[in-house]
Amino acid sequence: MDPDDQREALAPYRAKRDFSRTDEPAGAPEGAAPSGPADVALPEGVETGAFVVQEHDARRLHYDFRLEVDGVLKSWAVPRGPSTDPNAKRLAVPTEDHPLEYGGYEGVIPEGGYGAGPSLLWDRGTYINLSHDRTGAPVPMTAALAKGHLSVWLRGEKLVGGWSLTRIENSRDGKEAWLLVKRADAAADPDSDITVQRPRSVLSGLTLDDLRRRGR
Ligand code: MN
Repeated sequence: MDPDDQREALAPYRAKRDFSRTDEPAGAPEGAAPSGPADVALPEGVETGAFVVQEHDARRLHYDFRLEVDGVLKSWAVPRGPSTDPNAKRLAVPTEDHPLEYGGYEGVIPEGGYGAGPSLLWDRGTYINLSHDRTGAPVPMTAALAKGHLSVWLRGEKLVGGWSLTRIENSRDGKEAWLLVKRADAAADPDSDITVQRPRSVLSGLTLDDLRRRGR
C-alpha cells in the first residue's frame, strides 16, 4: 500500500486515541504484522496475510476480528465472538482500520480513552483468501471487501478452517453489519464453545480477569 493511502486509512484510528496516554501502537508506516506459524508452503498466487482476534472488554465485551489487507488490519467487532458451529451466525460490526502492529497488542486501555478496558490477544495466525465469484474465479481481498462477501481459511492457534464474512443490511439504524460464519468443513465443531473453552491469551496465557486485575 502507498504510504499516503495507509496514512489516510489509519486517520480515523489515530483521531480516536491519545498516544501519550494509551500504550496501543500509533502505527508506523513501515509497521509489520507479527508473523503467524510458517507451517505450510503456499502455492504461487495465493493471497495471504495475518489475522488476529482480541477479546476486548470496553463498554461491552466483544471480540475484535482483524484481517491484514492492503497494509492495515481490517476490523470487525463481534459481540459474541467467533463460533465453530456452521449454524451460528455471529454479528460483526465494522470498526476503523487498525495498524498492523496492533496485531501484537495486549493491555489495558486507560480510563477515559477510546475503548477503555482490557484487551487480550485471544488468537493470531495467518489466513488464506478463498473468496471466489459464481464462476469459481478467485476474488482478491480488496474486491471481496467492497462486494461484501469474503471467505478465508484461518490457521490460528485456536481458529482453524474456513470462515465467511458477509455484509447484511441493518434495517433498524442503517449501520453496516456483517455476519461471521464458520464454513462446514472438517474443522467445524457445532458442539463446542471455543470462547468458553479457550479463554486464555495466546501471548501471555492470561485471562481477561487476570489482565484487568493486573491493570496495564
Ligand atoms: Mn474493540
